[in-house]
Amino acid sequence: MNWILKADGMINLSKHFLFKGSNLNNRKILLYFVLIIFLFTGFLWSGPIEKKIPILCYHRFGSVVNDSMTIKIRAFDEQLAWLKSNGYTVISLDSAIKYLKGEFTSIPAKSVVITVDDGHKSVYYDMAPLVIKYRIPVTLFIYPSAISRATYAMTWEQLRKLEATSFFRVESHTYWHPNFKREKKKLSPDEYAKFVDKQLSGAKQILEEKMGHEIKYLAWAFGIYDNELEAKAIQSGYIAALTIDRAHASSSKKITSQPRYMVVSRHNMKAFEQMVSAEEAKEGKKGK
Ligand SMILES: [Zn+2]
Repeated sequence: MNWILKADGMINLSKHFLFKGSNLNNRKILLYFVLIIFLFTGFLWSGPIEKKIPILCYHRFGSVVNDSMTIKIRAFDEQLAWLKSNGYTVISLDSAIKYLKGEFTSIPAKSVVITVDDGHKSVYYDMAPLVIKYRIPVTLFIYPSAISRATYAMTWEQLRKLEATSFFRVESHTYWHPNFKREKKKLSPDEYAKFVDKQLSGAKQILEEKMGHEIKYLAWAFGIYDNELEAKAIQSGYIAALTIDRAHASSSKKITSQPRYMVVSRHNMKAFEQMVSAEEAKEGKKGK
């Protein structure tokens, strides 16, 4: 009798705790809470999603190929047509860097950036008509010592005309395109520090004077950089710097050594496709 009463009491007790409406809600809340914690810690463990963008680096253009760095105008036309028909959007370097830094939350799913180093005349005469035809943003990395001086280089006037189309933007490629490794061996530490300052700060300053806008980005000459140079680039006021290390630019990489793919004349459409689709970088890693 006694135990029956006890059991009865237990049933009443469990009824009270398990089936009372308000407790059912509490249990639901607890369940949601556990689920949220679970999802949140899962997110923390996996880390933020890596953001990646292919950045292409060109040099010269021409109707005939004279050297490996020259891209046939027809080949460049084909590459731009391929990007367009395969759903790629050419975005500005500025948008890409802002995205990698988390300042822009989204960019088109298949984004690609186009840059051109050295300021050769063929950019003005051969490349620009296609850039205007396809209406794509292009960043020009310029070393000011050559502009309006070297026979192969554009003039300041031509650079300003290109920027006036609103498709081109001038950024820095150091002052006179030095080999930092060689200069470091040749110069005393003090001389080298001054030299680096001239190449980074000096180039930024004269480009800003000549172009009339802020210079935010740097492309390492010959793709040469190290930790010391990267720190100097930030001290000089650059927001990001680019290499030619053949990989996608990525939020997981240092902002002062974001890689680019140099496009040269031997790259056919298949090779170009592999570059922008990240297949080349994957193959490269496998090979190592
Ligand atoms: Zn260069």
